[in-house]
Amino acid sequence: MDPKQPEPWQWPDEHWRSIVNHVRAGRTLRPARWKDNARCAVALSFDSDHETTELRDGGKSIGRLSWGQYGSRVGVPRILDVLRRYDVPASFYVPAVTARLYPAEQRRVVDDGHEIGIHGWIHELNSGLSYETERDLMQRSADVLEQTTGVRPVGMRTPSWDFSPHTLRIAKEMGLAYDSSLMADEECYELLLDGEPTGVIEVPVEWVRDDAVYFWMNRFQSQRPYTPPSDVFDIFRREFDRAYQEGGLFQLTMHPHVIGYRSRIWIVEEIIRHARAKGDVWFATHAAAVDWAKQHST
Ligand SMILES: [Zn+2]
Repeated sequence: MDPKQPEPWQWPDEHWRSIVNHVRAGRTLRPARWKDNARCAVALSFDSDHETTELRDGGKSIGRLSWGQYGSRVGVPRILDVLRRYDVPASFYVPAVTARLYPAEQRRVVDDGHEIGIHGWIHELNSGLSYETERDLMQRSADVLEQTTGVRPVGMRTPSWDFSPHTLRIAKEMGLAYDSSLMADEECYELLLDGEPTGVIEVPVEWVRDDAVYFWMNRFQSQRPYTPPSDVFDIFRREFDRAYQEGGLFQLTMHPHVIGYRSRIWIVEEIIRHARAKGDVWFATHAAAVDWAKQHST
């Protein structure tokens, strides 16, 4: 403990207030109806982390790297097959290192009509970086994705949803349309930087709508999958049902090396079938949902 630094309970009001207000949710973007007069929008996303979750901490475990390779060899093709059969577009967030390891995979994702967004260089944590380093990595990541697929990304998801004090400023400077890493709502909202609207829209995520928290495991720690696939489907379905009832946005975050297994991929398929059976549901990429919400919210 630094005796010169006051404790949080000694902070003057303006100090904790400036921390809270640095990045904040502004106006809600909630269209009365979604595209094609749909009552509810469904935005599915897949984070193609593959080997980068091992590499980002300097790891060289051949076993865990093979787990990452599964994401590309089996997970992504299986996901693309489901999405193609139901004609559902989705968003894939791809670290630059993944794109360099698997350029053909990214081109296939884009050729199938899906979106690719920025997901860091090597899945690094932004909060550990200087402004200059974070900005450099984000710009180079966007360049690599564009060089790989021919499409410049318009959105980002920070690796591990880790947001530094500089992340929003960099997104604004890069002219990104949206971020999808924060949790202040279930509907889209505009991000405020120190109280000022940025024009950057948030597509909010949540741990309850993320496959990894239920299924992830670590051989050398106590972390083990604790929820059966049927229960994960039940949670996702209830999240969708309520979003549909409210006429809002239903967003999911999944990972090819987590959801891609034979005992789990049915969750993606069943959620799509359940949502489609309602009739008035619009399946959209995150970018398309943002675009619609921006143009049709009062
Ligand atoms: Zn990730």
